[in-house]
Amino acid sequence: MTSSSQPLVECRQVSRTFGRGSSAVVAVHAATCVVDDHARIAVVGASGSGKSTLLHLFGGLDSPTSGHIAWPAWGRPPRGHGDDVGTVFQGASLMPDLNVVENVTLPLLFQGVSQHAAQARARESLALMDIETLAEKLPEELSGGQAQRVSVARVVATRPRLILADEPTGQLDQSTARHVIEVLLQAADELAAGLVVATHDPLIAAHLDHHWVMHEGTLDVTMAGAEGAAASAGAS
Ligand code: ADP
Ligand code: MG
Repeated sequence: MTSSSQPLVECRQVSRTFGRGSSAVVAVHAATCVVDDHARIAVVGASGSGKSTLLHLFGGLDSPTSGHIAWPAWGRPPRGHGDDVGTVFQGASLMPDLNVVENVTLPLLFQGVSQHAAQARARESLALMDIETLAEKLPEELSGGQAQRVSVARVVATRPRLILADEPTGQLDQSTARHVIEVLLQAADELAAGLVVATHDPLIAAHLDHHWVMHEGTLDVTMAGAEGAAASAGAS
């Protein structure tokens, strides 16, 4: 049998509004989409278009104000840590008092992995990101780019079925950014996981098969990668 795809997230007419009345902001408006375990998706769009909100909904970190969201692979909302969904957050998210290897090990301990196995997996994940030499450093000793790579290593080490990455290359130079996206793709392949990357960088989006475009909260899932890029460049 060829590997058939399994839906991980299904959204039907999902909206998320912040605030009420005249100050209400519709961050996501009536989004309908499916993310499966073969997904290699870039969510692109201007700042404020709703990319982060959409990813938080996918990960079960936020709830829709209307519409329906389901996680068929688990039959329940995903866990915040563990082997369901791994999220690389926009900006700093490392524990300041723990060194790098401890930061990567921590979620594995929550998953119930033994200390010994967690250490080994953390170091393997750091090696994959080419940052094993940073293992004993504290977050405050890292550059923004190094900290971002640690965040990616931490997610990869938990072996999630769905990887969500919110602007994972925002603070990185071009060659480091390419390395991070390549490692995310490699990890998604090895784990047979879905991968959704929010990015405003066309060079990063070009690595992914599909481009989902967010525009003022509205999600357009109809365009494939190269096709979408050509269509948006040609649109008048
Ligand atoms: P993006 O990630 O594309 O920059 P966001 O999803 O962060 O977009 O934001 C979409 C819109 O929702 C923006 O107008 C933003 O100000 C608003 N928004 C996001 N999170 C909140 C929040 N917690 N409270 C109020 N407004 C929010
Ligand atoms: Mg964002």
